[in-house]
Amino acid sequence: METLQQLTHRQVEALRIIATRQSESRGASLKEIASGLRVRPPSALAHLGPLEERGLISRFRGKSRLTSRGAACLEEYRRHHRVAESLFSRAGLSVEATCRAAREVDLALSHRTVEKICAAEGHPSVCPHGAPIAPCRTSGKAS
Ligand SMILES: [Zn+2]
Ligand SMILES: [Zn+2]
Repeated sequence: METLQQLTHRQVEALRIIATRQSESRGASLKEIASGLRVRPPSALAHLGPLEERGLISRFRGKSRLTSRGAACLEEYRRHHRVAESLFSRAGLSVEATCRAAREVDLALSHRTVEKICAAEGHPSVCPHGAPIAPCRTSGKAS
């Protein structure tokens, strides 16, 4: 199973918050991550454990940073979500509705399926909201 297929939306949201809050000099604090997730610190911590176990974040003195694997995973998630939005947009859903529908499938789709949808959609460069979609990887790498 691919990494994204093993994650929850809350865990992906935690990755996104860490990416926003971390800087060159320091990682994101548990307090920042908890407030971003709108939960109490112990609940936020429960989301961080599985991310650390999968090598997506590293934690040092209570601060969390994305590893290169974590950053790549977040990029992949955005790609899955936005390609799915494009598909639902062409199926006639409103811009608002494409986002909700994409969330129903974005973590479940394999990279291979996303590449196929992307090709079928003519390799869209932006999602229905205008957010950029990274180009397909043409290498046959099945990671
Ligand atoms: Zn969306
Ligand atoms: Zn979008």
